[in-house]
Amino acid sequence: MVIGGGVAGMTAALTIADQGFHVHLVEQSDRLGGFARNLKFTLEGNSPPKLIRYLIEKITHHPNITVYLKSSLVSHNGPMGAFNGTLQNENGTISVQYGPVTMAKSAGQQAMKILCKKEMTISAAKAQVDPDKCSACLLCVRVCPYGAPFINEDGVSQIPPSACAGCGICVSECPSRAITLKHCTDDQILAKIDALLEPTDSSFLFPGSAG
Ligand code: SF4
Ligand code: SF4
Repeated sequence: MVIGGGVAGMTAALTIADQGFHVHLVEQSDRLGGFARNLKFTLEGNSPPKLIRYLIEKITHHPNITVYLKSSLVSHNGPMGAFNGTLQNENGTISVQYGPVTMAKSAGQQAMKILCKKEMTISAAKAQVDPDKCSACLLCVRVCPYGAPFINEDGVSQIPPSACAGCGICVSECPSRAITLKHCTDDQILAKIDALLEPTDSSFLFPGSAG
């Protein structure tokens, strides 16, 4: 399953389909192409519209790719590598079976956000996933306001540091406690609380009360 029909999603879908696997390519809007549809030329002088036309042509004629436009994944369950999901579009719901999930849309959106900024400050606190604990429930993918987590080719969540703003939402939501925030582990927070609760010198707080 590839979620997101932009250039990254279409490229991922073609790569997987060319290996002989069937791909469900899911796009929320009514056409493929994503953000790159708004670009006329790249810095190297390439033409995104030409590339998009080429990719769409290949995708629509590829026997291993099924495209779902105006659709979104609304439920996802089953064992890793043999997921069952439900897609919803304006005509109702469709059940699909699939292996790994690739969130190409998040990656593309994030890349565009970064490319469109003149400068950006990144937080030192970054979320990290312990792959051994991740059950690929997709909760972090859904709740992250920055679209950072995605399910990688190993079938577990991955969070690119450059995309993570360190807000901590996914850490508190993950049912498997698989995510930690660098520099904000439970031990580090407890140590800070302990330091705040240390008895203070009352003469500092109430000058003149000592002696
Ligand atoms: S919420 Fe936790 S268990 Fe679910 S996909 Fe994200 S890291 Fe994995
Ligand atoms: S810490 Fe916040 S920004 Fe980073 S992945 Fe989790 S929810 Fe997204």
